[in-house]
Amino acid sequence: MTVVGVLALQGDVPEHRAAFARVLGPDGVVLVRTARELARVDALVIPGGESTTISAMLDKGGLRQALVERIGRGLPVLGTCAGLIVLADRLEASPGGRDPTTLRALDITVRRNDFGRQRESFEAPVRVEGLRAPPFPGVFIRAPRILEVGRKATPFAWRDTEVVGVRAGTVWGLSFHPELSGDPRIAAAFLRTNVPGA
Ligand code: GLN
Repeated sequence: MTVVGVLALQGDVPEHRAAFARVLGPDGVVLVRTARELARVDALVIPGGESTTISAMLDKGGLRQALVERIGRGLPVLGTCAGLIVLADRLEASPGGRDPTTLRALDITVRRNDFGRQRESFEAPVRVEGLRAPPFPGVFIRAPRILEVGRKATPFAWRDTEVVGVRAGTVWGLSFHPELSGDPRIAAAFLRTNVPGA
């Protein structure tokens, strides 16, 4: 049976758990806080939240090294919003912010909070390669902006002409929150594409 882990250090963990439970059933999703729990999962979600906190807690719990190693061995990972930031190879300094140490698993340059403050959060239709109509309802909350996509990454989601989703092998990063829209198509596509037998 396929088991997806949701990295449960900080952020919108219950929403991700519910989104994947809709696709896999409740036993198909577990929370990951330790290297031992990480070892049991077939794929991992890094949720939205606060990337500086998530990154700091990866160090505190001793999970960073185990995660870097698993990703290096091909672990499918879906990072949304703060999760995208944590996965990025490069960060441009964000307005007024400390920036986190990242996992360097996606060949992109990102700037945190680049669409403005909380009240400038918005919803917008997103075109996702491989999904049938209608467009995906994108929820953007203090979202990061993908400033540059390097040669080792491929865009696969756009808001108008702007890239809002990128993949590199089995690592997917989105600047919006699919888990908040109630639309299971991205969770289902992530599993179908990256986890054999899911
Ligand atoms: N602004 C947050 C950060 O920089 C991300 C926001 C989110 O995940 N909704 O980490």
